[in-house]
Amino acid sequence: MILTYYTYKCPKCNEDFKTSGALSGNTFGATLYSDAFNFYPMLPINHKLIKCPLCLSFIWLNYLKPKSIERYTPSYTFSITFDGSPRRNYVKELSINDYFEALKTMYPGDRLFIRKKIWWAFNDRIRYYDGKRKNKSKIIFVEPDDEKKYTDNCYALLELLNTEDINQKIMRAEINRNLGKFEECLKIIESIKDVNFERAKNKFRTECNKRNMWLFKLS
Ligand SMILES: [Zn+2]
Repeated sequence: MILTYYTYKCPKCNEDFKTSGALSGNTFGATLYSDAFNFYPMLPINHKLIKCPLCLSFIWLNYLKPKSIERYTPSYTFSITFDGSPRRNYVKELSINDYFEALKTMYPGDRLFIRKKIWWAFNDRIRYYDGKRKNKSKIIFVEPDDEKKYTDNCYALLELLNTEDINQKIMRAEINRNLGKFEECLKIIESIKDVNFERAKNKFRTECNKRNMWLFKLS
């Protein structure tokens, strides 16, 4: 994998900021989760919606052309760009609060993307948890209003998801399970007739029968 840094000019403040990317990478060791999030350990985080680190405007990176592309040098560590960069012009990963803020300023057409990111960001707390705590609700809900934020976002996301597309159907099933609506989850799961989804369907049935409403590994 060749790691790279991209330099962009912010269209709002005209200052330069940098973000990381990969010229090549691989998808080995991918883990698929019940919320349809694929974790690729060998690929860096792809920053699509970002916040300019200088003027704090939200920007879609895919609409910008980089000014320059630099090779990764070993003196940098992943942590410098991926979280809490000490360099003022490095893009950081958006937080849950950033996404909620983006909901207010972005176009209505962007809501599906943003709400999915919020859902995934909460689920990340379980996804990457390696502690001993058994009660998953204590892992996912940290702040007093987290549960309400998560639940409201789940309901809003349900409204935005397509009822026909098979991947969105699975997401709808999963969101219902995350809301503790196991019968609704099973109803959607059983409506999927594609034989390629048999294994996934079985896993959803098992978790619903266990009355587990939290994220699990699909493969
Ligand atoms: Zn800016």
